[in-house]
Amino acid sequence: MRSYDQSVEAYKEAVTLMPGGVNSPVRAFKAVDMNPIFMERGKGSKIYDIDGNEYIDYVLSWGPLILGHANNQVVEAIKKVAENGTSFGAPTLIENKLAKLVQERVPSIEIVRMVSSGTEATMSALRLARGYTGRNKILKFEGSYHGHGDSLLIKAGSGVATLGLPDSPGVPVSIAQNTIAVPYNNVEAVEAAFNEYGDDIACVIIEPVAGNMGVVPPKEGFLQMLRDITNKYGSLLIFDEVMTGFRVDYNCAQGYFNVTPDLTCLGKVIGGGLPVGAFGGKAEIMEKIAPTGPVYQAGTLSGNPIAMTAGYETLSQLTPDTYKEFIRKADRLEEGFHQAAMKYDIPHTFNRAGSMIGVFFTNEEVYNFETARTSDLELFAKYYRGMAENGVFLPPSQFEGIFLSAAHTDEDIEKTIKAVEKTFRKIRS
Ligand code: PMP
Repeated sequence: MRSYDQSVEAYKEAVTLMPGGVNSPVRAFKAVDMNPIFMERGKGSKIYDIDGNEYIDYVLSWGPLILGHANNQVVEAIKKVAENGTSFGAPTLIENKLAKLVQERVPSIEIVRMVSSGTEATMSALRLARGYTGRNKILKFEGSYHGHGDSLLIKAGSGVATLGLPDSPGVPVSIAQNTIAVPYNNVEAVEAAFNEYGDDIACVIIEPVAGNMGVVPPKEGFLQMLRDITNKYGSLLIFDEVMTGFRVDYNCAQGYFNVTPDLTCLGKVIGGGLPVGAFGGKAEIMEKIAPTGPVYQAGTLSGNPIAMTAGYETLSQLTPDTYKEFIRKADRLEEGFHQAAMKYDIPHTFNRAGSMIGVFFTNEEVYNFETARTSDLELFAKYYRGMAENGVFLPPSQFEGIFLSAAHTDEDIEKTIKAVEKTFRKIRS
């Protein structure tokens, strides 16, 4: 058995210092009934806790580390930049460099504004959509998570779903009334919402592959349907690509599905493990943002040179081939998982999009939050603890995806499949 003694001690102190001992809720490991594991360092596909346990890491800081931990090129560049000062509050050249890369790679983005988190990106994009259209309502999907902005904490996924807190106290009713939430992948529900409120819908915001109810890809034609209906009603279409951006494909999910939104939100990979978010889109819309326009948005550390450097050095190492390798490794992982699950009669559905993978313990097709919730959460918790014991670090919630990095080797994948097999064997013994 692995020892977690140091983590247990650290957590005892942490709960006296921070709410629930953590600075972000899902780090509390509540859903899997475990003491949080305190991490010390990472290299490549591996992460090491403060008790010295090694894991193959499929959390990757919840998505950003697409090259794995402490990528040499990223680390060297950060060191070099830091020596010249950490923040200036005035423009720097690295902001141009990263923005240019984003503009080249993301089909919808003509102009981009950098911020410091995914939450800021989505909050700002919503304000812009409302300011641009002069409308109030937004349409989102149940079980999607778009950060913790007031308008977006309605029927949200991620930690909100993990902890069973569908709507957050503290969000004024007057704000919540302007958010319409409908089931993911449900064409009729979207049409009904537009029939009723169409003239006052500022935007539809969607994760083009949902990643906060586990991983749920869009059904064929669903994103195009959203493009058509928003065009028809003069609403904006916002793709929240905080998770999918540069992860699902080289040109993001919008490139993969060939549907171009009006605005795109980015986060995670774009910062290569440092705090970066961004929102961008058509120049005509983005120019409504201050200082060119009246919609206000700002940030002391926005475009921070160290964060921009980490993002730039990360994105510039990604090529279309990186994504082909992800598919090859994910194919093998799926095959191995499926075989082990069949052998031990474990109900399962394996959803995928590029390097995003969602494992559900149900035999039902998972295409929205309701079907995601058919997953056996007790079985998930047992699976989680077994995988940790066998050296595989997964997100401690059913309603999160797992990620591959370019640093994951074929050997890592085989070891992971062995861990799955051992875990299922123990569960059934
Ligand atoms: N949008 C999506 C799709 C996300 O997955 C997340 C974070 N998991 C966010 C927004 C919020 O990003 P952040 O945690 O950086 O504020």
